[in-house]
Amino acid sequence: MFFFGTKNSKIKRGQISNVTCPNCKEVTTLTFTVFGKYVHFYWVPMFPLRKKTIVECNSCYRTYNIKEAPEPVKHKFQREMTGIKTPLWYYSGLAILACLIYLAFYLSKKDEINDANYIQEPKVGDMYTIEAAKKGYYTTMKVNRVTKDSIFVIRNDFDLFRRSKIYRINKDENYTTKIDSFSKTELQHLFNNGNIFEVDRK
Ligand SMILES: [Zn+2]
Repeated sequence: MFFFGTKNSKIKRGQISNVTCPNCKEVTTLTFTVFGKYVHFYWVPMFPLRKKTIVECNSCYRTYNIKEAPEPVKHKFQREMTGIKTPLWYYSGLAILACLIYLAFYLSKKDEINDANYIQEPKVGDMYTIEAAKKGYYTTMKVNRVTKDSIFVIRNDFDLFRRSKIYRINKDENYTTKIDSFSKTELQHLFNNGNIFEVDRK
């Protein structure tokens, strides 16, 4: 269920004096109220829609939309209207969204940088997510020894179709006999060529 819709809020109220009311024909003062309309999602304002201005005659209390008002009234109102801005909080939702997107980018960039550092300085226990022999499947390998210029890994006995669920096969008992080794240069190549999707370090 989605909770979105539109809401109004009062932005400004003021007077337009010395104008003739089209209803009672008195030369009088009209009270105007500017309403802002915005779209909300779960009651968080997302973005503004058009403003609406209602005028009320101080003599006969008849109300009407500024658009239906006679030209002199519209003209005087125009001067009042300059300086009426859409409140910034109407954009709260968009601002929150922008922050979240920025945060997601920032975290993913940070993760990328971490992975690159982990490849340069491998440590025992590092886990690499790689493509399995079966096409479209993923598996892992774990570093169990690091020398000056090589690393030794144990490959996982299992593979998985969904990369996001890779943690399910990352159990100590799944790393048994499939030992492999790479030079650090080879490891760097594998990473640069995208053969190592992710590096996890505890
Ligand atoms: Zn009137």
